[in-house]
Amino acid sequence: MSTAPPPEVDVVVVGSGPNGLAAAVTLARAGLSVQVLETQPTIGGGARTLDLGLAQGVVHDICSAAHPLALASPFFDAFDVRARGVRAIAPAASYAQPLDAQPAAIAWHDLERTAEGLGADGPAWRATIGTLARHEDLVVELALGDKRSVPPALLTPRTLLTAPLFGAMIGLQGTPAWDLPFRTERARALLSGVAAHAIGTMPSLALSATAMLLGTIGHGVGWPIPVGGSQSIVDTLVADLRAHGGQIVTDHHVRTWRDVPPARAVLLDTPAGAAADILANRLPASLERALRRFPTGMRRRRSTSCCPDRCRGGIRRSARRGPSTSAAPVNRWRRRRRRWPPGGCPIIR
Ligand SMILES: Cc1cc2nc3c(=O)[nH]c(=O)nc-3n(C[C@H](O)[C@H](O)[C@H](O)COP(=O)(O)OP(=O)(O)OC[C@H]3O[C@@H](n4cnc5c(N)ncnc54)[C@H](O)[C@@H]3O)c2cc1C
Repeated sequence: MSTAPPPEVDVVVVGSGPNGLAAAVTLARAGLSVQVLETQPTIGGGARTLDLGLAQGVVHDICSAAHPLALASPFFDAFDVRARGVRAIAPAASYAQPLDAQPAAIAWHDLERTAEGLGADGPAWRATIGTLARHEDLVVELALGDKRSVPPALLTPRTLLTAPLFGAMIGLQGTPAWDLPFRTERARALLSGVAAHAIGTMPSLALSATAMLLGTIGHGVGWPIPVGGSQSIVDTLVADLRAHGGQIVTDHHVRTWRDVPPARAVLLDTPAGAAADILANRLPASLERALRRFPTGMRRRRSTSCCPDRCRGGIRRSARRGPSTSAAPVNRWRRRRRRWPPGGCPIIR
């Protein structure tokens, strides 16, 4: 009787983005042997900070720069990056939406300041996003909890109305009735802009939930920026993974199942299309088709403030209109979306 050779590791994680690393850390801490395979020469996926050679001494967060969830998510709350030496600075303005021929709409960390800036829609902002922000813990639990248990915060009387409000706002913003609570372009664009941080069609429930979560956190823990770049968060994850026996192999592109070493479990932190290639003929045909239809994540226009010479005009604009993140209002966003070069992240647009 022949027996199969024992697996080399318990778990292989394909992709070293923040989600792959969070999974790897969780599993390694549970005592499993974990190997992470990364196609790039550097670790961290969309949370990498690289020297792109644009200016001496300037490093770039090539994708993510502000990290509302690095403090607020249940994983990072328990992992506690600040206790591991990451200095996170939450700016006074969490996010903003540039508008034509008028100053940008700004979501300040300070709710009242935001409401004042929204004029006629100030009271509606206070009543919706403001109410959610007062119960930030519950909103985070509802959005990011395991969905198998009732969040403890839900059971306290002071939050009784928060969960229905959160659900109602997601339902409303996720349908053609979106923006109903707001009358002005400023408030509507501010909410659409924060929704557009997720990749997907608008309006949709997923993007609407993103808007509610990120909007809530914007007035709660804020949108902190780690000093030294996003890589400082990645580095804490890598250090913890290695301290628990995990390994990371870079320059290892997993094209097909044959590129994955034997393991008891394999986790894919890759784009859906890459997952379909890796799992080809191992999935039900309908699931494989669904993975291949999934929109590529880089099809969206994003703008990130930056400081090399070539975007000085951008800085002047930012200074006048306030800091900018993310997409233009939705109708323009739809027209403009386009595919990024394969494997590339936009730096300045
Ligand atoms: C321009 C831009 C700006 C953003 N700004 C922010 C922000 O400010 N704040 C924020 O919180 N989020 C931001 N995001 C989103 C954030 O970057 C992503 O949500 C996050 O990186 C997703 O993490 P992930 O681990 O799921 O995937 P990724 O970070 O994409 O990591 C996937 C990893 O898998 C690797 N990989 C893929 N295929 C294979 C394969 N076949 N074999 C081996 N390895 C493979 C990739 O090289 C990559 O390292 C931004 C995204 C973009 C595009």
